[in-house]
Amino acid sequence: MQPMSQTRLAAIHPALSELCMHLARIADVRAAAALLEWDQETYMPAGAASVRAEQLATLHQLAHEWLISERTGELLEAAAAAVQDLPAEHLAVRLVEVVREDYEKARRIPPALVAALARTESEACEAWKQARQEDNYARFAPYLERLLTLNREKAEALGYEAHLYDALLDQYEPGMTAADVQRLFEQLRVHLVPLAQAFSAQPQPEHAFLQRYVDPERQWRLNRMLLKAIGFDLQRGRLDASVHPFSTGIAIADVRLTTRIDPHDFTSGLFATLHEAGHGLYEQGIDPVLERTPLADGASLGLHESQSRLWENLIGRSLPFWEYFFPHLQQLLEGVLDDVSLEAFYRAINRVQPSLIRVEADEVTYNLHILLRFELELALLEGNLSVQDLPEAWNEGMQRYLGLQPTTLREGVLQDIHWSQGAFGYFPTYTLGNLMAAQLWRALTAALPEAVICMQQGDFQPILTWLRERIHTYGRAWKAPVLLEQVTGRPLEVEPWLTYIREKYQALYPAASVSLL
Ligand code: ZN
Repeated sequence: MQPMSQTRLAAIHPALSELCMHLARIADVRAAAALLEWDQETYMPAGAASVRAEQLATLHQLAHEWLISERTGELLEAAAAAVQDLPAEHLAVRLVEVVREDYEKARRIPPALVAALARTESEACEAWKQARQEDNYARFAPYLERLLTLNREKAEALGYEAHLYDALLDQYEPGMTAADVQRLFEQLRVHLVPLAQAFSAQPQPEHAFLQRYVDPERQWRLNRMLLKAIGFDLQRGRLDASVHPFSTGIAIADVRLTTRIDPHDFTSGLFATLHEAGHGLYEQGIDPVLERTPLADGASLGLHESQSRLWENLIGRSLPFWEYFFPHLQQLLEGVLDDVSLEAFYRAINRVQPSLIRVEADEVTYNLHILLRFELELALLEGNLSVQDLPEAWNEGMQRYLGLQPTTLREGVLQDIHWSQGAFGYFPTYTLGNLMAAQLWRALTAALPEAVICMQQGDFQPILTWLRERIHTYGRAWKAPVLLEQVTGRPLEVEPWLTYIREKYQALYPAASVSLL
């Protein structure tokens, strides 16, 4: 009997087996690193922090060296010759093309720059943590300055056509440019700022009952019940606890999710679980033939986020979803919600309230936080905004977009970890994900008009199958814009999301005066 990996490689194309063996070794080292990273956030004893950082640096360096080696180049050349007569959409052709792109990009960045980035990112992350604690921006500013310089160098090394930002965005959202994001975000901004104001000016629904005590053990049962119901396979995945919920694919057959459990805020963990499950369903749905290849991943961060937002918001905060689950929830929480109606619960989990903190923002105001971050990081990279002036620009932007003023840096410019990790070009993917989710949902409900009835009956299989066959199965074989256009017949647009938000929230806040498109 052939080892499993052999069978899988042969299934892609026999001529690729040598390249695939090489790629599988790289994938294994990366999987080991991902598992160590997961452990770092879940079970690792605090004392292991510094040795863990060394272990991770070794593994990442090893994977990088193997990828940029001459050997990869030779194997790619042989593989390209072997697949040249296959149709362009053959998985083997896609594999060769994606790996060639990865290989060429990785080789463009000089090793000294890779090392300088890694070192500065880890120092900046520590400085950011301290700066946050002390509420002292000056502590973090010099690191931010250095990271910007290094990222400008990285963009130059990677190369770009129109805008330096394109090269950085491409790391997270291949196939999209700064100009695409600017155009979409401007269309969104014009409609969203007045929409958010109109809804948030309305009286808030009763929601104090969401803060009632719910025993952690019961919350775990609730979250696992939801995971199973929507089709997350716990034989090929896990759910654990971490301070900041996340998901990570160690392999297609091993997808780890985390959530947070707060005894006085059970819906926080519940929606975090649904969100991470959306990411996890994507990873579990990738064609198993792609296991241990670089295609065993999401097409982009935006498309990944579209899956998490779809399950968290479009499904998980919808009325049909709770028409099925609310009685189960009441039963599981044994009395905690007995005096609460389905309608009151639905209103409470969908209240619109501008807030200072991005990760606590509701579905309507969330994207305003992203518009601000995109605007600022673009200005920083272009040199139109100095690091020194960033806190003031942040506060001014918060006022303009959300009508709020942070009183501390912790709830202002120092709230997110991303910039301290050198992740410029990352923030837009959250909003792109929201937009993609609405566009995919429109296509899904047009193709499956029974989707609403299925949700009311607690049957999520037809929805999951539709997503699996059209999105998940391809992994990274196609770029997100290609998949989206293939599935929805349209390039990415803001209209489906705006229409979804208008319709849903106009029903929740009927007194708000909202203009139609
Ligand atoms: Zn996410």
